[in-house]
Amino acid sequence: MNLPPEFIERIKKQLGHEADHFFAALHHSPPVSIRIHPRKFPKAHVWNNLPQVPWCKEGIYLTERPVFTLDPLFHAGAYYVQEASSMVISYILNQLQTPEKASLRVLDLCAAPGGKSTLLSSWLNGDGLLISNEVIRSRIPALKENTIRWGYDNVIITNNDPADFINSELLFDIVVVDAPCSGEGLFRKDTESIFHWSVENTQLCTLRQKRILEAATEIVEEGGYLLYSTCTYNPNENELHRQQIIDSGFEPVVINIPSAWNITQLSDNSMQFYPHKNKGEGFYIAVFKKIKPNSSKATFGKKNKLEIINTMPYQSWINLPDNRKLIRTEKISAIIFPDAWLDWLAFATNKLRIVHAGIEVGEIKGKDYILSHALAMSLFINKEVKTLEVDEFQARLFLSKESLVLPESIPHGYILISFQQIPLGWLKNLGNRSNNLYPQEFRIRMRWK
Ligand code: SAM
Repeated sequence: MNLPPEFIERIKKQLGHEADHFFAALHHSPPVSIRIHPRKFPKAHVWNNLPQVPWCKEGIYLTERPVFTLDPLFHAGAYYVQEASSMVISYILNQLQTPEKASLRVLDLCAAPGGKSTLLSSWLNGDGLLISNEVIRSRIPALKENTIRWGYDNVIITNNDPADFINSELLFDIVVVDAPCSGEGLFRKDTESIFHWSVENTQLCTLRQKRILEAATEIVEEGGYLLYSTCTYNPNENELHRQQIIDSGFEPVVINIPSAWNITQLSDNSMQFYPHKNKGEGFYIAVFKKIKPNSSKATFGKKNKLEIINTMPYQSWINLPDNRKLIRTEKISAIIFPDAWLDWLAFATNKLRIVHAGIEVGEIKGKDYILSHALAMSLFINKEVKTLEVDEFQARLFLSKESLVLPESIPHGYILISFQQIPLGWLKNLGNRSNNLYPQEFRIRMRWK
């Protein structure tokens, strides 16, 4: 591993006698970890017996790196592949003194591809509202795919610059800024990142983070929390911003971390993961609470009317709880969305560039309808729907968008394909043939037969 000399010098100063252990750890292979979806992952899976990530009850260390692309459970959203250190957000969220989750507005300001957002979604577990924002348009499809797989309806994806949120006047109870950074913490996992590193680039990152934080600090509601994280060790991208945040009307939030976890506490409210001390990659996080009153606040006076649908041809496929509504939309025919957040969505539609909201249910085409893949992935599917359980080979065929040979007993119409009882997507049985409705853009492209 050819590390930049300036990086080596800085780490030696930062870590003193520990530096040699740090550099040695960069030559070990990175641990492999996943975070399971508590409402999807099979209870009987062998991975459930593997060691848990200490700071996240849903995190599991695997003994080797499987080919995730070929695992049907990965495509079903039964787990998310995530490096272990960043899962500490799960522990931190549980330490915050927030009001009941049902009232929480959570913003993930730098969200793609969705690691922190899926963690936040699991934590909310269908309560409150999550806004996953990504400013770079080309990174939206991956965020959308991961959001769809995770299956919750209380999620909105926006494609905005952080400054747009100030203009929107919308406020949030928790804002997570997982900032774009120099990526030093990923040197071991992704050696490419070493080539993108330069002193100039770290300086650019510092300035960009400062700008993002200028917006983020404005949009936290008084009494709400700001979580600032990076995957770098550079103090100019990490601790330097602490004072900026505090000066914007925040106080540090002390997080009690068990000493056995060996996480480096940088200050009362900030911590750093190092690969020679923790089973994970480099990660920094600091936690703040807003104490300054907000100068302006959105009033939901002039709102769009969202059209609530009471009967739909595809209603029998959905299990719609009382606190959820079906909403008519332009491009697709309907989405499932939480009742409590309809006004919020209507207001935000005029203020932000919303690229996804709720669960797309399906589309009406003439006299017929097409069920959406998002419905199959969602937690709102009617358990009574016609299902065909397949083995791993057939699951891979289905996920590669190849045709399946169906048993004669399978009725005509929509069939939910499942693997280990977890839905993978829709197939339509036409009798003499079947249509595999797995989305073209999500299909397995790798050769595996
Ligand atoms: N939170 C994500 C996760 O856990 O999967 C990873 C986020 S990554 C560290 C930082 C993100 O910030 C990237 O998706 C990047 O596109 C986005 N970004 C880049 N420049 C930005 C800017 N000026 N403002 C806001 N976000 C930016």
